[in-house]
Amino acid sequence: MSDIIIAIDGYSACGKSTLARDLASHLGYTYIDTGAMYRAVTLYFLDHQVDLSDAQAVMKALDSIRIRFQPASDGAMATFLNGQNVEDEIRSMRVSGSVSEVAALSAVRRAMVREQQEMGMQKRVVLDGRDIGTVVFPQAELKIFLTADFEERLRRRFEELRRGGSQQALSSEEVADNLRKRDHIDSTRADSPLRQAQDAKRLDNTTLDRESQLELVLKWVRELTGYPAEQQNQIQKNANS
Ligand code: C5P
Repeated sequence: MSDIIIAIDGYSACGKSTLARDLASHLGYTYIDTGAMYRAVTLYFLDHQVDLSDAQAVMKALDSIRIRFQPASDGAMATFLNGQNVEDEIRSMRVSGSVSEVAALSAVRRAMVREQQEMGMQKRVVLDGRDIGTVVFPQAELKIFLTADFEERLRRRFEELRRGGSQQALSSEEVADNLRKRDHIDSTRADSPLRQAQDAKRLDNTTLDRESQLELVLKWVRELTGYPAEQQNQIQKNANS
């Protein structure tokens, strides 16, 4: 099978990370959660009270940040910021409330895009985010633009927060406001706004279950790589074993 880069873009809470994770595990690829990287930067900026309008302070902070994806003590992959597991903290509303402002800064984007390009250089990666197919890997062999109805996205995000044992008593309206605000900032910012790449496949998964979605995208992967279905199945078995 020829090795490829899979780029998944879309609005918040469309299920990008679920699809990216499923694909990575079935293909034996590495999953790069670029949203987690912007969230980790945001956490650092909040904890160190970095003034977003102070370009020097932003650069200095960026120089002090190291983000890694590695297994946590329970074996699950997690986001580490300067050696600390921040996987749960970066999903909090405190971070969600500020991440889009931080991600709109060109200095932050330059630093993150550089790292993402290095991580994906060898291919065999699935990345999800907002600018993967347009900026980070415009040459990606498979680009997907994921969408879903707003109500469904809200239901999924709420469920995710609840499952994650969120201590915060959040109303549906608060979560909806955050999604709307991030959608707006992410798609109207000057630097790399969220856009569907011209050659991306648009996939609306509002009524698609997880398995059917994966099956459909694996079909696209097979068509692209010319990989026979039986061997694909073997890879899946190996990845699952
Ligand atoms: O994907 P997730 O919702 O975790 O991303 C959090 C935020 O990070 C987004 O709302 C967006 O502001 C920013 N982001 C970005 N570019 C990416 C990935 C995420 O600007 N490639």
